[in-house]
Amino acid sequence: MARKYFIAGNWKMNKTAAEATALIDAIKAKIGTQTKVDVAVCPTFTALDAASKALKGSTIKLGAQNVYVKPSGAYTGEISADMLKEFCCEYVILGHSERREYFKECNCFVNEKVKVVLANGMKPILCVGEKLEEREAGKTIDVVSQQVLKGLEGVSKDDAKNVVVAYEPVWAIGTGKTATPEMAQEVHAQIRKNLAELFGAETAEDMQILYGGSMKPENAKDLLAQKDIDGGLIGGAALKADSFVALVEIAQNA
Ligand code: PEP
Repeated sequence: MARKYFIAGNWKMNKTAAEATALIDAIKAKIGTQTKVDVAVCPTFTALDAASKALKGSTIKLGAQNVYVKPSGAYTGEISADMLKEFCCEYVILGHSERREYFKECNCFVNEKVKVVLANGMKPILCVGEKLEEREAGKTIDVVSQQVLKGLEGVSKDDAKNVVVAYEPVWAIGTGKTATPEMAQEVHAQIRKNLAELFGAETAEDMQILYGGSMKPENAKDLLAQKDIDGGLIGGAALKADSFVALVEIAQNA
């Protein structure tokens, strides 16, 4: 099975419900029915309802940016998988470096979340990536391999088909600095090896591995040309219809 490119927008803590609707309408007008590339937008929780309604009739999928591991109960401020499903979320971003850094999420907690998302019929986008000091200390491959192997521990081969991995070097997120295509490819190839260790080579070949970290229309073509880069998890450039649409169009022609 040839892998499809996947362009996913991580809106982070941006866009009210009304702004989400306006952005989706603008994106839909340009690429709302294309099927060549998988496309998803991941707004904040409070915009999911509006986004879900705005996406109706389009091929663009909805994702959330987090989930809690319990189904319900006394967990003030948290959101369950069922609550995401109510809005037809297909994807959930997990283990983003901002969650690892500011909210102290560890590989083990991220792994629990991955399994909850899969058990609920949704697709985790598992984010992994090294910090600058880890890269400089020559630890990139070690750190990323651990994040992949621990993050996906206990996931079945069948469920692995619904897992997306996003390699996001922390030093490249929101900084304007991007990994060179060769640097990114080296890590993506390692991630595919890790996936093959876990699920076998055939399953690993079918899994999408996205690059994230200041990806924009100016650098996307060269990144997407790499053998193991299957798309992008896009932060800043996903907040404007023009740049997000341009990225989808680049993926369509990659
Ligand atoms: C992200 O946070 O997932 C991301 C890739 O952000 P940016 O594109 O802004 O670097």
